[in-house]
Amino acid sequence: MTRTINETHDPALQSWVSSANEPSSDFPIQNLPFGRFRRSEQEKWSMGVAIGDQILDLRRAGLTSVEGMNQLMTLSLADRAELRLALSRGLRLGSVRQSEWEKALVPQSEVELGLPCEIGDYTDFYSSLQHATAVGRLFRPDSPLLPNYHWLPVGYHGRSSSICASGHSFPRPIGQTRRPGAEIPELKPSLRLDYELELGIFIGQPNTLGDPIALADAEAHLFGLALFNDWSARDIQAWEYQPLGPFLSKNFMSTLSPWMVTMEALAPFRAAYSRPEGTPELLPYLDSAANREGGAFDIVVEVWLQTAKMAEVGQPAQCLSRANYRGAHWTPAQLVAHHTVNGCNLQSGDLLGTGTLSGPESHQAGSLLELSMGGQQPIALANGELRTFLENGDTVILRGYCEGPGRRRIGFGECRGTVLPPRRSWPAV
Ligand code: MN
Repeated sequence: MTRTINETHDPALQSWVSSANEPSSDFPIQNLPFGRFRRSEQEKWSMGVAIGDQILDLRRAGLTSVEGMNQLMTLSLADRAELRLALSRGLRLGSVRQSEWEKALVPQSEVELGLPCEIGDYTDFYSSLQHATAVGRLFRPDSPLLPNYHWLPVGYHGRSSSICASGHSFPRPIGQTRRPGAEIPELKPSLRLDYELELGIFIGQPNTLGDPIALADAEAHLFGLALFNDWSARDIQAWEYQPLGPFLSKNFMSTLSPWMVTMEALAPFRAAYSRPEGTPELLPYLDSAANREGGAFDIVVEVWLQTAKMAEVGQPAQCLSRANYRGAHWTPAQLVAHHTVNGCNLQSGDLLGTGTLSGPESHQAGSLLELSMGGQQPIALANGELRTFLENGDTVILRGYCEGPGRRRIGFGECRGTVLPPRRSWPAV
């Protein structure tokens, strides 16, 4: 596990961009996440780094000459460390670069934030033992966890064309479902629309087709993490998922937050990886001392909901649940090692979803499916509304952050999307 702690992580560092020094800012000088922005729809995406409520335009600051973000993400570890150091030194209070770089700043509020890179292939995993057990119990009460679960990171190949940048809205999906006890399925708008609280893991350096990535090298191929909402239509999923896994219940929409928090920024927030007692010992290609000592990451992730009613009266979003990525059953390095063990090639900009992150307590569940016990127990919101699944007009906001004694808190920003009524015309049954 490669990324080391250095002067860029010093919690005492302050920036000449004063908003970055606010304790509540997700983007202090210790973070420096990468993303893309544009001032108008006619403009091409520019590469930037978030600092406080501003963005430093990388090209205008003379920091890079590469074509685009996917190319930047293939930089060697040494080049990336050098870029991070240059950003940190240039944005520090008292830097000689201040007057030059002030011209390369853009307020975040004045631009559109896009997907942080061109997303290539997308794979979604199932890393949370708590989520897998709770969902397994709902779908298959007799055998919640299938025999492979403890041996390999279960995943499926998803679709990247429908991954959208945070801040959008989308119509409730339509699909084929079959009511319990019914003989014939129907085509209609999903009645069990849900979110999934996930992290997205971005591949930086590619591997050659046929060349597996060993666990020890896996993190060198990772660029960073962002928040990821894998919206899911549970009624469509329940009917379609066997025997080949999720399909149209997932690929109508996914939402990604705009900033990639780099592996370098996450270095102070590494955590030990352990498996619950009684789980089988890992096969050697998924196990190493380094992965056990620090392969996990201490990242708090939260789901917030603002209903249409709350928005109408100016009531802010309400936190529905909070979990920590540290407790996941598989680390990012293990996902990469397993994904490539057959020679599969990953490319710069590929996205790995962690899978829904649910904590050990029932109120820490990362989906409504779990929070409402499969729709059996509605949850009561502070304003008296009830929810089993999402209603039209609901806005779901994911947030994430890392904090700890002696470290500057860093955040992931927001991943936000709103559910609209279904398209007015949909194909008849
Ligand atoms: Mn998912």
